[in-house]
Parts: sequence; C-alpha cells; structure tokens
Amino acid sequence: MRDLLPYLKLYKKHWFGLSLGMLLSFATLFASIGLLTLSGWFISASAVAGLTIARETFNYMLPGAGVRGAAMARTAGRWGERVVSHNATFKLLTDLRIFFFTKLAPLIPGKAVNIRDADMLNRLVADVDAMDHVYLRLISPIVVGVFGILCLTAVLCWFDLTLGLTLGAILMLMLIVWPLVFYRLGKENGESLTLNKAELRIKTLDWLQGYSELTLFGAESRYRKAITNAQTKLLSNQLVHARISGMAQGLLILANGWLLVLMLWLAADGVGGNQPDPLIALMAFATMASFELLMPIAGAFQYLGQTLTSAKRLNEVILAEPEVTFSAQSATHSNDYSIKFNKVSFAYPDAEQLALRDVSLEVPAGNRLAIVGQTGSGKSTLLQLISRYWDTNSGHIELAGTDIKNWSEPQLRESTSIVSQKVDILNGTLRDNLSMASPNASEEALLNALKSVSLSHLAEDNGLDAWLGDGGRQLSGGEKRRIGIARALLHNAPIVLLDEPTEGLDKNTEQQVMSLFEQHFADKTVIFITHRLVHLERFDAICLLEDGEILEFGHHSNLIEARGRYFELHQTL
Ligand code: ADP
Ligand code: MG
Repeated sequence: MRDLLPYLKLYKKHWFGLSLGMLLSFATLFASIGLLTLSGWFISASAVAGLTIARETFNYMLPGAGVRGAAMARTAGRWGERVVSHNATFKLLTDLRIFFFTKLAPLIPGKAVNIRDADMLNRLVADVDAMDHVYLRLISPIVVGVFGILCLTAVLCWFDLTLGLTLGAILMLMLIVWPLVFYRLGKENGESLTLNKAELRIKTLDWLQGYSELTLFGAESRYRKAITNAQTKLLSNQLVHARISGMAQGLLILANGWLLVLMLWLAADGVGGNQPDPLIALMAFATMASFELLMPIAGAFQYLGQTLTSAKRLNEVILAEPEVTFSAQSATHSNDYSIKFNKVSFAYPDAEQLALRDVSLEVPAGNRLAIVGQTGSGKSTLLQLISRYWDTNSGHIELAGTDIKNWSEPQLRESTSIVSQKVDILNGTLRDNLSMASPNASEEALLNALKSVSLSHLAEDNGLDAWLGDGGRQLSGGEKRRIGIARALLHNAPIVLLDEPTEGLDKNTEQQVMSLFEQHFADKTVIFITHRLVHLERFDAICLLEDGEILEFGHHSNLIEARGRYFELHQTL
C-alpha cells in the first residue's frame, strides 16, 4: 500500500473536485435509495389506505412529490457526479503524466536506459491510467459506502432501532469482507495481468520495429508466435478477472436476497412495536436498495492488485535518484570558453574497467583539439562527461574556468554545440529537424546551414517542409551526420564538440566538412573526435587516447617526429 503514497499526495491539489465528486455520488445514492424505499412504502400504504377508511385522509401529494424529487435528483446527481469526478480524475492523470515525465527526464541516460522504450511507453500510458482506479474505484466508493451505511442506519433506527442496527451492522461487515476477500482472490491474477499487458506491447513493438530484419533472417514467424503467446496469457488473465468480477457480483446479489429474507422475518411482527403496517415494505425496500452502496466495491478490489503493480512500476522511475543533478543557479564564468580536464577518472555503472583513467587535458579558448584513438578507447565518453550525461568518479572538468558542476543546464546547453556519433532524425519536417537547434532562426539561416553542409538537395522539392524520418525521406548515414553538423552551425555556441562527424562520408564530402572548420568554427573552442587520421595538420593539438588513458599529446608534426604510437597508426593508413 505504501507504493500508493506518492500518488495520494497529488490528490491534494485536486481535493475540491474530488470531494465534490464524492459528495455528488453520495447525494445520488441517497436519492436512489430514498426513491426505492419511499415508493415501496408509498405503494403499499396507498393500497392499505384504499382498503380502509383512511382513504379520505391519506396524503398522496407529499410522498408523490418526494418520489418525483428523488427520481430527478438521482438523474441530475449521477450526471453531475460523472462530470465532476471524471474531470478531476483526468486533471489528476494529466498532472501525474507530467510529474512522471519530470522525474524521468533527469534519469536519461542513466539508469532508465535499462528500461526498454516499449516498456517505458507502457508505463507512461497504461500504468498511469491504472492510477485512476485508486480514486474512482477504491477511495470514492469506500468513503461514500461508509457514509451511506451510517446515514441509512440512522434513518432506519428512527423507525426501529433493532432493525436499523441489524441492517447497518451486516452492511458494514460486508463492506469490510468483500474488499478483503476479493483483493486476495484477484491479487495474483491482477499482477500478472499488468505484467502480461506490458509484455504484449513490448513483443508487438519488437515485431513491428524489426519486421524487415526478422523477415530477412527467417525469424518473423517465431517473433509473431511470441506475440500470440503473450496475448494468450493476457486473455487467460482477463478471463480469470471476469470470473472473479462475476463471482463478486453474484455473491453480493445472493447475500442481498438472504438479507432481505432476514429483514422480512424480523419485521414481520411490525416495525417499531406497532401492528404490521406498510412500514414493513419500507424496511424491505430499504434493504434491497442498500446494495446500491455495495455494488461499486463488489469487483473493485480485485483491481487493487493491478493498481499496486502499476504503482510499483511507476515508482521504479519516480523514486530513482538521477545520476546527475544540475545546479539551479547559473554559474559565473569567464568569456574565454576553455575546456579543462583535471585528473578525470570515470567508469560506467556496473562496468569493471575504467572508461577514462586520470585524464588531464586543456583546450585553451579558440583552440582546436583532435582526439584520436581506436574504438572503445573512451573518446565518446569524454564528450559525454562534458555534456554531463554522467558525472566523473574523481577529478573535475572546468568550462570557461568554472567547475562544470556549477553550471545550470540551460547555461551548459547554450554554450555547447554537439554533433553526436549517432545523430537522431526527428519524425518531422526538415524545418523541425533544423530549428530544434535554434528555434528563432530565419528561413534563410536554415537554408544557409543546409547549403554549408551540401544538403541543399533535400529542400529541392518541398523546401523546408520536406518530411524526414518515418513515412518520409530516409537519409543515409552521411546525410544524417551532415544534418547534425547543420544543427551545430545553427546553434552557434562558443564550444563545439564533434564525435566522428566524418565517419561514413566519402572523401569529397569529408574534405568539405573539414573546410567548414575554417569558415564557421574559426573562433570557437573545438573538440573533434575521429579515428581517421587525415587532415589533422590543421588542428592546434592532437590527443591520442588508448584504453582510457592519454598516450600522446602534441601537434601533428611533433607527434610524427616523435615516431611513437601516433606515427605508427598514421603509417598504417
Ligand atoms: P569510443 O568512442 O572511443 O569508441 P567509448 O567512449 O564509446 O569509446 O567507450 C569506451 C568504453 O566504455 C568502451 O569499452 C565501451 O564499451 C564502454 N561504454 C561505452 N558506453 C557505455 C555505457 N553506456 N555503459 C557501459 N559501458 C559503456
Ligand atoms: Mg565513440
């Protein structure tokens, strides 16, 4: 149950709508019970009056008006209750989604990467949705049920103390027993229902995303079978769920019947010490109607297992501590955007080896540094530390003379342009894909950036409205990289970090990209990662990484002269 606490706290903000919903629900039930009770008594009383002399004096008007009033109140109340409580619940769910997202964002790319995309989506959609059960199916019916039973008991006690207390006690007992029993019965099935629902989505997405690859390797039918299996499991969970729901309702109706027999038997000798009269009908109909209070909770508690499982799955994200926290205030720093690594060591979580060991390195403002080394030597890790994807284990990094930990996130993002090794293309227009780096850039600026990276042909047919990504134009690896470079040009930050931007480009384009440095990155502090040792003469310094350590450092000509490892690698080109 403690798993629900973070969500119950969110209720505070919407307390008014939620309490109003309960109040209306209470009024509706009261009108509904009143209607049946009153009309039961009214019909028998009129019949009795018709047979006796009382027909002259019997007041038909008041109870008749009461019946009409209760009927109208029930309809209006039901409508109002649905509008108010659903409105409040939807607002609550909106808040919950935003809350979940604000907790999720800082976890990326840390721990949360261990959760697959499809699973994360399922948490964001289905598990958040499941949280509306807490209010609509559990809290509201229980609160309304308790108050309803108390009021009904009080009213009936006014007629007959024994009958009122008996009915009240039995109803209260059932209000406690039904949830307990059906929570236990539905718990295991509810848990596996939630997990199997997630499983079905994951398997289906796997199949959809990998369809062409799976077909080529002849594994398509195997993966499709996995979907069918997941579906079969889910269906059997749903079957059990439906059976338990049916049983809860059926047993409640049975209990209602027996309770009616008991009440009739107890009331048969007369209500409140009087001779048998139409008040017996009032008691009987009140008993029948009282089950309207219990019906909503009959099957509800078997959802509790599902809801708790969903809460647990959400908590895995919500309660996780982010690996990196940004400073809330902007740091003061100099206007010379230098980069300095001071004895930095870093290991990825769960990794045995250090990805970087004792790296000390300085790039003065306006200088260009090339980092070279074989795959896996730690080059990308170096950039990820500057972007604060991770924090260093020891040592520290300074940008513009200020420890990077003191920089606020917007400040850091504004000061750095990054072309990462894997450029993501958004599913959107060319304009969307470029302007994300500079939202206020003019049309002309966007087209110029495209031209600088020789991608003008993308805008030939539909201009910047050309669609990229799914359902649009597919880009080659080289084109994606150049979109990445165009974004960096548009972002126009004083520090530029590029991770193998020339990989997969032909010689001509590589040459073009390298010459961009002269034109556009002339006054910027640049770190350029590559494993191709060409055109490196024009860099101010070269740093050779091997197994996370700096092996050699210096200008191209000096390193060649030294005839060390860089020279060796250069020879094998
Ligand atoms: P490079 O960019 O030089 O090819 P990386 O910096 O990407 O190398 O990786 C350095 C080392 O860290 C490699 O051994 C790699 O397997 C490991 N590594 C990279 N990313 C992760 C990660 N997210 N989790 C665990 N290990 C990682
Ligand atoms: Mg890399």
